[in-house]
Amino acid sequence: MVILSLLLLTHLDESPLTGRTRLLVFSRESYLELAALTAEAYMEEFAELLLPVTDVRHQVVERVVQHLAQRNKDIPEVSDVSWTVHVVQGPTVNAFVLPNGEVFVYTGMLETVTDVHQLTIILGHEMAHALLGHSAEQASLSHILDLLSLVLLSAIWALCPRDSLAVLGHWVQQKLSQLMFSRPYSRKLEAEADQVGLQLAAKACADVRAGPVFWQQMEIRDQLSGEPSLPEWLSTHPSHRNRTTHLDRLIPQALELRQSCVCPALPATDPRAVFSETVRVLLEKNKREEAHAAAPIHGLPPVPAGLPAALLAPNSLPASSHVHQENKTSV
Ligand SMILES: [Zn+2]
Repeated sequence: MVILSLLLLTHLDESPLTGRTRLLVFSRESYLELAALTAEAYMEEFAELLLPVTDVRHQVVERVVQHLAQRNKDIPEVSDVSWTVHVVQGPTVNAFVLPNGEVFVYTGMLETVTDVHQLTIILGHEMAHALLGHSAEQASLSHILDLLSLVLLSAIWALCPRDSLAVLGHWVQQKLSQLMFSRPYSRKLEAEADQVGLQLAAKACADVRAGPVFWQQMEIRDQLSGEPSLPEWLSTHPSHRNRTTHLDRLIPQALELRQSCVCPALPATDPRAVFSETVRVLLEKNKREEAHAAAPIHGLPPVPAGLPAALLAPNSLPASSHVHQENKTSV
């Protein structure tokens, strides 16, 4: 108990960017070393599935990641690492970023986002988890048993260099990786990554208003597919509706930040309003079609009765604080 109390007191750490006090049992160096080993393991696992760097999908992700890194280089955790992109061929709607700057994106995610702004916001969110050290914090905080395992395993890891005791070292490394990188984040950490990720995207001149639209699209997608189970990446995250609401609240502040970063003006039309109106028109059209012919319109699957009313109200979203006249943005 004394050891545990000492540990708690001596390992309090201030979260970068948000200044929140949290518990970290790992040094940043060990954490980065473990991330590098985890990245190696992923590279082996995905060896046959990685797109070549010449593939246009890889190039799009590369451009977005490097742009995010360049525009946020004032943050030491961003400029201290070199950001490397890996695009994995696979239908999973998933993306993740390791704290040493290794970015993994599935093609399933690229097929799901509708534009580069959404992709920037998703990658900003994942980069935020990495630079805030959320995986180490999650492992340290979630359960006292995890905390003790981490301390014990870290001690074994420190005492048994992997070269001399390869088997034990490898086992310990795998256990640490599981504790750190294979588990869902808490709601609190998700909300923090949403907030910081949106700031990163705003500084990279993305249209931050596209963030809530992505989650609305995901909600409709789930409704239309009727799949009770969510994609892997999403199942570890808050519900789409909560996410949309939370992001919407952050938009005015993100727009102010974006404006202070000398970004090109945003289109006057808010993508959230465009999306709500499009859904409304499609549903009305579908209803009329069904009433007349009892058949769905071409290109739109039958809409389940339970489609949330909040998605249909064009004025249900808060107005953005800035409206600009030009039609061009660069990301
Ligand atoms: Zn997340």
